[in-house]
Amino acid sequence: MIQIGDFGISRVEELVLDEDVSLLKHFGEETVAEHGGWLIPDFYNPERNCFYSMIHSWILRTPDKTIVIDTAGGDDKDRPLSPRFDHNKTGFLERLAAAGVQPEDVDMVLLTHLHVDHVGWNTRLQDGTWVPTFPNAEYVATATELEVRDPKRGAAEKPPQAWTTYLDSVQPIVDAGQMRVVEGTETIMPGIDLVPLPGHAPGMVGIRVRGGGKEALFIADAMHQPIQIYHPEWSSKYCENPELANETRAKMLKYAADEGALILPAHFVAPYCGYVRSGPNGYVFERPSETP
Ligand SMILES: [Zn+2]
Repeated sequence: MIQIGDFGISRVEELVLDEDVSLLKHFGEETVAEHGGWLIPDFYNPERNCFYSMIHSWILRTPDKTIVIDTAGGDDKDRPLSPRFDHNKTGFLERLAAAGVQPEDVDMVLLTHLHVDHVGWNTRLQDGTWVPTFPNAEYVATATELEVRDPKRGAAEKPPQAWTTYLDSVQPIVDAGQMRVVEGTETIMPGIDLVPLPGHAPGMVGIRVRGGGKEALFIADAMHQPIQIYHPEWSSKYCENPELANETRAKMLKYAADEGALILPAHFVAPYCGYVRSGPNGYVFERPSETP
């Protein structure tokens, strides 16, 4: 657990995935020659020429609330376009319980964006129906993300296989009256506010937590791999608008370096988070003194 004032940050793991280096199209032998010393073995596997990617949820505890940030890939989901998340059995809820959180304890689910690997545990299958996993939670998503993923609105032109994530993991939350729609700049509660991070997804938001003179910034998919701290101009193949993602990443890194904020990305493997420091040739990654 990492403490930011009165806020506690921990995490619940779902999957660790091999991520082919095609994730970052400019990554190659030159990068390995320059950065291999710290990328291997934690972040990059030279034998398989792949990165490692974490799929997890962040748990943010306030003195009286339990907040889940993003809900991973989920179990039992039909994912014709995303084999890695197709009909999984991940044991996620057991690990959540082991972390001391029962689904009914969760007060809020903050969704940074609505990609397949961030909304899966919004719902679970019960007697053939998708029901909210967290029955007492207010789920929070941006108007832009809801608009572009909804088959009746922005996603109408996409093939039906692309709708499954929305239909089984977002629509049931809306139907249950548990979805709070935000613009993405709101203060959620004292000490917690939303920060727009468009590019990887058009309505993606980060979550800024401030307390006790410290700051933490959940940056969602503004970066996928720590090498991007050294190459802010590298967007991933999953970024919907790579140029805008580059702009957002550059701004976010400058902010994190200037403010000394702990950044908590959605997909870094251990140590899962860290600091961005200004060096003579750009930014460098600094590991945190404690891991969540
Ligand atoms: Zn993601």
